[in-house]
Amino acid sequence: MRTRLAPSPTGAQHLGNARTHLIAYWAARQCGGELVFRIDDLDSPRVKDWAIKQAIEDIRWLGIDWDGPPTLQTEHQPRYRQTLATITGGRNLAYPCVCSRKDIAEALSAPHESRFQGEGPVYPGTCAGYRDGAPIPPQLHCWRLRVSDETLVFDDQVLGRQQCNPARELGDFPITTKNDQVSYQLAVVVDDMCQNVDWVIRGNDLVASTFRQLELYRHLGCRPPRYAHVPLVRGVDGRRLAKRHGDTRLSHYRECGVAAEAIVGWAAHSLGLTDTAEPQKAADLIDRFDWSRLPKQDTVIDAERLFGL
Ligand code: GLU
Repeated sequence: MRTRLAPSPTGAQHLGNARTHLIAYWAARQCGGELVFRIDDLDSPRVKDWAIKQAIEDIRWLGIDWDGPPTLQTEHQPRYRQTLATITGGRNLAYPCVCSRKDIAEALSAPHESRFQGEGPVYPGTCAGYRDGAPIPPQLHCWRLRVSDETLVFDDQVLGRQQCNPARELGDFPITTKNDQVSYQLAVVVDDMCQNVDWVIRGNDLVASTFRQLELYRHLGCRPPRYAHVPLVRGVDGRRLAKRHGDTRLSHYRECGVAAEAIVGWAAHSLGLTDTAEPQKAADLIDRFDWSRLPKQDTVIDAERLFGL
């Protein structure tokens, strides 16, 4: 197994991120595998400089060790551009799209919302008539990948068999932004391929993205990794952890004197790996890790009552 820690430095790492990182660490170390550290810092202007340094500190504080120095996606631009050129270069795999969000909403008389939460409407195909070699529109445009109208299937280590017809359920998706930056979907596939990542362990909010990424693997002629989409941590209102639930930043706990072992103990217990939430060192739980114990459902916490704060 070669997997990765891939924090997004758009904000601080919180309890949910901590748990996902711990799972990747336990899974890799238990089977003598490798863990690379990649910082997903492409999402400017949302990326914050302080959050890069802090993510590294937070993850180290939890007791997680990784292999090799952390890398930044922003250092990988040449390889993204090269892959983008192969996709947009003559096989009609993608097309320039000038549509705004408003254009898309207006083109859909009965907007077809994706069954995946938060994925927005299925792109109606307004610009899909473009054929490679035709003039590229002078207006600002992104490049959109054409997705297939057939059922894609993968077997998730946690969630079991997952199926989706990308054309019907997700729609053609951007592989660049209108400012000519490569998108998350493309960058992550290029990096995982280049970094020989054969296991992707991440939050279950990315299942829809996995189907998009499977399309990219197919076009690039590469075998996709195995996937484990792990449960998220939610607040008592069922929504994803956010400020309104109280301060669940790892840096906050650290500043308040909460021990990393308390967080690790909570994480292990909430994942069904231990009988109690008593403090534990991350390394001491490597042998206890067991995929079959992980819940499929997200965990709901009352953040204000945790760790005696
Ligand atoms: N950077 C993403 C996150 O923090 C993970 C991306 C991925 O695993 O592909 O949620």
